[in-house]
Amino acid sequence: MPLVNSKEWLLKAQAEKFAIGAFNANNMEFVEAIIETAEEEKAPVIIQVSQGAIKYAGLEMSTAIVKAAAELASVPVILHLDHGTDYLQNVRCLRAGFTSLMFDGSALSFEENVKMTAKITEMSHACGIPVEAELGKVLQSADKVSPEQVEKAMTQPDEAVKFIELTKIDSLAVAIGSVHAMKDRTAKLDIPRLKRIRQVVNIPLVLHGSSGVDPASIIEGIANGLCKINVATQLSVSFVEAVGATYNKNPAEKDMRKILLPGKNAVKDRVREYIGYFGCKGKGIIAGAKSGITASEIKHHE
Ligand SMILES: [Zn+2]
Repeated sequence: MPLVNSKEWLLKAQAEKFAIGAFNANNMEFVEAIIETAEEEKAPVIIQVSQGAIKYAGLEMSTAIVKAAAELASVPVILHLDHGTDYLQNVRCLRAGFTSLMFDGSALSFEENVKMTAKITEMSHACGIPVEAELGKVLQSADKVSPEQVEKAMTQPDEAVKFIELTKIDSLAVAIGSVHAMKDRTAKLDIPRLKRIRQVVNIPLVLHGSSGVDPASIIEGIANGLCKINVATQLSVSFVEAVGATYNKNPAEKDMRKILLPGKNAVKDRVREYIGYFGCKGKGIIAGAKSGITASEIKHHE
């Protein structure tokens, strides 16, 4: 089916207390792995494309691959811009057909973040496309951040209320203890802070940096209001390790498909695991929608 808008699906997730997986994709194998698994699990899914991915694959190609894979699936697929860092990138993605946008002004002052976010929501809402924004800052593990720095960058509930009022955003990425690009799943979320935010904020809440978070803590976060969970690093690690192991086992193999396919399957396993944590299995069945062919049934001809 055609791409769907994130607005109604995140509100559904919020009402039914599950989260939708937002998985980052940089190439065709990832898009296929994510959408095939969502189809098998009957889960709604968000494919997110970062500015790095756009630089790598090109905006037109990234959009076309996701649209083509979504058309083959019967579950809802959303195409989301992850960490759009400026106004023009959001405009370009809107025009390309993205059905969900993000502006990350977390490096700006509160006032500047409000100003730019509000400008983007005004433009995007004119076309009915929702916008996610970030308040507080989810830091990067490459910066070797201390627990004190993570704590200091966390979202303040009262600021969040003001920010949403002034910007009219549709969902809010909160900083509650996760850190981007961690490879081991050891971080714990600040659940009391999440509860305080949830008490005063009524739009869907988003978790970034979940690759480094203990799955039990993610599950607790969903019970307390997280509706969209971003996963990038764990998928990349799974893909690269599987491809590396396959090649090392048989360096004489020069058919690239035989090297890449185990990588794709490793991504599928990881996506399935996360869909299980997120409670979204079976939530993507659309009443009356014909099941269509599943992406898994696509014949990959020689
Ligand atoms: Zn992020």
